[in-house]
Amino acid sequence: MTVKYQRVVLKLSGEALAGDKGFGINPPVIAEIAEQIKKVHQLGVEIAIVCGGGNIWRGETGAEMGMDRAQADYIGMLATVMNGLALQDALETVGVPTRVQTSIEMRQVAEPYIRRKAIRHLEKGRVVIFSCGTGSPYFSTDTTSVLRAAEINADVILMAKNGVDGVYSADPLKDPQAVKYDELTQLEVINKQLGIMDSTASSLSMDNDIPLVVFNLNKTDNIVRVVEGEQIGTTITG
Ligand code: UDP
Repeated sequence: MTVKYQRVVLKLSGEALAGDKGFGINPPVIAEIAEQIKKVHQLGVEIAIVCGGGNIWRGETGAEMGMDRAQADYIGMLATVMNGLALQDALETVGVPTRVQTSIEMRQVAEPYIRRKAIRHLEKGRVVIFSCGTGSPYFSTDTTSVLRAAEINADVILMAKNGVDGVYSADPLKDPQAVKYDELTQLEVINKQLGIMDSTASSLSMDNDIPLVVFNLNKTDNIVRVVEGEQIGTTITG
């Protein structure tokens, strides 16, 4: 089977790891995601994963409750490490070799992020999980996924969403007139304020011409289908 993308960055939001409860880490849900990733891995695709942390903590929420924003963001970055380790556990349980790399050093727990080492791991068939976002407050893990994709020369960013099968003109749950887009440009995403990613992530993606596929994670084998080039979800190009 030929694949459309040889090296991918998979963005998993914290929400994706939480399942129905919407909060915390849900091991059966992560096990299901790990099975999907294993199938992609078996196709020989190089996979890097960027983990979100919103299932545990968001810096913005902390700031709204009176915390210093940067401090709250560091808590958010640490949340992404918990998710990364949970995902590593699930992947290794199903026999997929992994490395976690963190943008903030915590050597007892994971490797520090080193770009060339990450690429080497990918070449050796290891799934690399990037945690701690960019390592700086005021950024998001969406921005991290674009940044890491650019750094490791990924062919695409796979933006797996919970229960949403692509990008719509309006919220399909609220507006019956909402239409789904099969294809968009980054400029259209920004101009139409479609809010798939924050503007920093969108503009970084546009400037670096990295395609993005937004698709529903909750349908079995969707990650494999996207990698094999099936037209599902919404493809956004530069
Ligand atoms: N975060 C940060 N810098 C980064 C990435 C993340 O400060 O480069 C913090 C930020 O507080 C954010 C939290 O980590 O709210 C969790 O990340 P995000 O909200 O992107 O996770 P997701 O929505 O994908 O679950």
